Amino acid sequence: MNPVSKRDYYEVLGVGRDAGEQEIKAAYRKLALLHHPDRNPEHADAEDRFKEASEAYSVLSDPQKRAAYDRYGHAGLQGAGSAGPNVDAFSDFSDILGDFFGVGDLFGGGGGQRRRGAQRGEDVHYNLEIAFEEAVFGLSADIQVPRMETCGRCSGSGAAPGTGASACPTCRGRGEVLYQQGFLSIRRTCHACGGVGQILRSPCTQCRGQGRVQAQRKLKINIPAGVDEGTRLRLSNEGQPGPNGGPYGDLYVLLKVRPHPFLERHETDLHCTVPVNITQAALGAEILVPTLEEAQKLKIPEGVQSGAQLRLRHKGVPALSGGARGDLVVHIEVRTPSRLTREQRKLMEQLRESLPVDNAPAEKGLFDKVRDYFA
Ligand SMILES: [Zn+2]
Ligand SMILES: [Zn+2]
Repeated sequence: MNPVSKRDYYEVLGVGRDAGEQEIKAAYRKLALLHHPDRNPEHADAEDRFKEASEAYSVLSDPQKRAAYDRYGHAGLQGAGSAGPNVDAFSDFSDILGDFFGVGDLFGGGGGQRRRGAQRGEDVHYNLEIAFEEAVFGLSADIQVPRMETCGRCSGSGAAPGTGASACPTCRGRGEVLYQQGFLSIRRTCHACGGVGQILRSPCTQCRGQGRVQAQRKLKINIPAGVDEGTRLRLSNEGQPGPNGGPYGDLYVLLKVRPHPFLERHETDLHCTVPVNITQAALGAEILVPTLEEAQKLKIPEGVQSGAQLRLRHKGVPALSGGARGDLVVHIEVRTPSRLTREQRKLMEQLRESLPVDNAPAEKGLFDKVRDYFA
């Protein structure tokens, strides 16, 4: 709505600029009841009038907004957090009338009907824990999901076999009851039958008249290769059945992946740390590296340093979106022997005599500069 074309809020409510809180509230209540769309289904502009009154009320009933409006008009209400044109008219309305009548379901004009209509069933969430390898290669899993199913004994009617339903005596089968309260007549959902209009003479013993029973639904689900911790799979229409014949909700399967004893996963790459001794590091070697399939030979180049990373191509995880498999990244850790035999020690000592000693710090920093200074 263009602010320029907006009517003055006091004019909308039909009150003076000095009207008090009670006067404003009373004026709004009168207009709201007059224009409420549920009472005026044949008047297309009723909803606009109703919203206009609600907006005016939401401003004039709030001292801060009213002060801003009094000083600057509609322009004073533009911007942060103000109840501008996007007032939630209906929630304001039920607030004000709710505390007045102490009921929430006013104007349920055909409310019983609305409640009785078909609705979509609830979604069901299921947590599934799988092994590390299963996440990498995928699997077909049998799961049992608890959900409601139509009762087999009464075929969902809720009535014991051979018996039927009869009209609810409280509402005479209408599903709602009419209250007279002052100048208002209020329709409310019948509590005796829950708005259905019928009560069961002899409820089904299997489902206690609910027509639905708790069941374990067996499902086979195919989990694709490459899923990861937190991956959520959606299975359409495997959730709860919708009330009153509505469509089923969905089933969400949330995956939890058990960690692997020595493989770590980052996206599609796998990582592991493999220790080598100093002779393997110095002379080079061929070692066996465990992968998710059979062990693989890996050539360690001579002179390898601790922290070096070697890759086994395509021994990682398949990309969920298709495409190439990731790598297995082998982190080399050079281990210094700590318990030498007498003979090993002798060999080490010989080696020491022939190796050049260079203990200069690896990275140029403050220490380097100090050493340069004293050199
Ligand atoms: Zn039943
Ligand atoms: Zn009833």
